[in-house]
Amino acid sequence: MRLSRFFLPILKENPKEAEIVSHRLMLRAGMIRQEAAGIYAWLPLGFRVLKKIEQIVREEQDRSGALELLMPTLQLADLWRESGRYDAYGPEMLRIADRHKRELLYGPTNEEMITEIFRAYVKSYKNLPLNLYHIQWKFRDEQRPRFGVMRGREFLMKDAYSFDLNEAAARVAYNKMFVAYLRTFARMGLKAIPMRAETGPIGGDLSHEFIVLAETGESGVFINRDVLDLPVPGEDVDYDSDLTPIIKQWTSVYAATEDVHDAARFEQEVPADKRVNTRGIEVGQIFYFGTKYSDAMKALVAGPDGVDVPIHGGSYGVGVSRLLGAIIEACHDDAGIKWPEAVAPFRVSILNLKQGDAAVDAACEKLYAELTAKGVDVLYDDTDQRAGAKFAAADLIGIPWQIMIGPKGLADGKVEIKRRSDGSRETMSPADAVARLV
Ligand code: ATP
Ligand code: MG
Ligand code: MG
Ligand code: MG
Repeated sequence: MRLSRFFLPILKENPKEAEIVSHRLMLRAGMIRQEAAGIYAWLPLGFRVLKKIEQIVREEQDRSGALELLMPTLQLADLWRESGRYDAYGPEMLRIADRHKRELLYGPTNEEMITEIFRAYVKSYKNLPLNLYHIQWKFRDEQRPRFGVMRGREFLMKDAYSFDLNEAAARVAYNKMFVAYLRTFARMGLKAIPMRAETGPIGGDLSHEFIVLAETGESGVFINRDVLDLPVPGEDVDYDSDLTPIIKQWTSVYAATEDVHDAARFEQEVPADKRVNTRGIEVGQIFYFGTKYSDAMKALVAGPDGVDVPIHGGSYGVGVSRLLGAIIEACHDDAGIKWPEAVAPFRVSILNLKQGDAAVDAACEKLYAELTAKGVDVLYDDTDQRAGAKFAAADLIGIPWQIMIGPKGLADGKVEIKRRSDGSRETMSPADAVARLV
């Protein structure tokens, strides 16, 4: 992509409305634009990152055996009356009427709808286990939308729903999602720690929140420092094997949100020098809720003995759009964003330090063509901005690798490569630069 043809509306000034660094940087880097409180347009740079994150979430859901579908954003109120949540959900739910005065709502979550789909088709335990997920926009009329995409009103969520014959089987499904979540967040360069959590309005009796530590996070958390060093399962993890040893390893080290924190246990279990009380960002949550919805909505299957029983369910959310904020909170410096490679909007940026200089232009074009031909996502800064402005923009938008090409270096046959994550620089020939970055 040539920057001269891209749409990258970088802001020079710090936007006043942004209280935290990720919000500020997303606005300054031209990633998002607020259209109403908590409602954002995704500009091309932000959209590319959103899609990368979404794809990692999808790949790890698929690997665990979950199946993707897509449910609508609008739902019938009557469906929610069946579960009793239409009244219970309160003012966070956006309620709408169509021209026939039928009551609809913009879905804040999908337990009711997926249960309705399930019960329409699945009648026997032989079709279990089943885990269905989608990646779809949600609306919650948050009391205080803030921090940009971290607490939006419209936001993108991955939500999965598991269906099993009994509690033991449902726990197997829960464990799969637990492992898939460990892998998902690690692939994005995040340390997201599963913590014991309250189940909230979704109900049920077993839940973990996956939390990224950050001072700006909205959740208070208590952990044993050791949890930060636990190993994340590799991509060869066998989801058909018994995953309980992995779950045990992760849940036997103290990690809890403040809602369920047990001070006495914390002091007893965790040595004083390993106790950490800090804040964090909830990027995902998993629940086992048993027969809460299947009882209310009559989602029954025939068991091996032919008797109908309500299925045992779980639901599993990831805040796809919130993750952009969480990643930036974890990966930035004073100059801007430092994208982990896996989610970066482009992998490499080429900075032409003297646009209009025939030799420099030719070298940049050649490098751009070679890298692009080899499948590298490149943003080529071919604008006529001065070098200083190009450096600043490249640091701000956080592309992992910058290749700087100017007349002086080129006279020696060299370009400079800068790695955004640690600022390290190396000088080499253009051919070596290509070899390094493919
Ligand atoms: P929070 O405690 O932050 O309000 P939640 O517990 O209400 O989140 P869940 O119902 O567990 O949210 O939804 C699954 C995931 O969706 C959350 O873990 C979070 O990452 C994301 N999420 C929830 N609300 C928002 C929001 N208003 N804006 C962006 N992401 C959100
Ligand atoms: Mg909430
Ligand atoms: Mg929460
Ligand atoms: Mg939650």
